[in-house]
Amino acid sequence: MNIFETHAHLDFDDYKHDREQMIQKAFKVGVKNIINIGIDEKSSRDSIKLAEQYPEIYASVGYHPSTVKIFNEKVVYELAKHKKVVAIGEIGLDYYRNYNPKDMQKKAFARQVEIACEIDKPIIIHDREAHEDCFDVLKQNKAKKVVFHCFSGDVAFAEKVLAEDWYISITGVITYKNNDLADVVRILPKDKFFIETDSPYLTPVPHRGKRNTPEYLTYVVQKISDILRIPPNLVAEQTYQNAKRFFLQEAF
Ligand SMILES: [Zn+2]
Repeated sequence: MNIFETHAHLDFDDYKHDREQMIQKAFKVGVKNIINIGIDEKSSRDSIKLAEQYPEIYASVGYHPSTVKIFNEKVVYELAKHKKVVAIGEIGLDYYRNYNPKDMQKKAFARQVEIACEIDKPIIIHDREAHEDCFDVLKQNKAKKVVFHCFSGDVAFAEKVLAEDWYISITGVITYKNNDLADVVRILPKDKFFIETDSPYLTPVPHRGKRNTPEYLTYVVQKISDILRIPPNLVAEQTYQNAKRFFLQEAF
């Protein structure tokens, strides 16, 4: 099976005792590539370090809504030049946790979207209870390469995102009970979505409650395969090709 893990935080301290073994276990179950996600300067630099260490790992750089107080655009410009940096993110708005004032979040988000468009990099969106504002900032900047990481909107919002030719990414939340994500998955064009764990968060059933790792992406694949009634291999291969095309800009 070919699996592309499009969103993980393997630089976090959660993995400080067994990072190497955890990564090897993921490779063993079929994970071929991983994008390690930056949320501030330190994690962006650490993501690049991991990407330098493993040919299979790529990095994204940017300031998450929780860290925009220390947003420095020079850092984004500088780090984005690295050859293994494939996206700007995760960036966006979080009105659920409201880590920082909305105005501050919006300003840093908008500036990072501008930078990404200017240097022609895909944008990884963190959107929590801020669907319309995220959408508006992206539209205002005429952003083209966009993925809504850990998509949490309803079918109507998914249709709006897809109409822009943007992408949707599905996490282990799909394995939880009482969520509308299954309906979203049913309307996704097969070439418009990715899968991810958001490790160490959002651990899929049956491991919910424990630390998440990219190895558990197989549960996300299985669940999507159950919903769409297509073989797991096909889900893995399709999302693998989608991610390769989108992030690595290789021919489909
Ligand atoms: Zn994340």
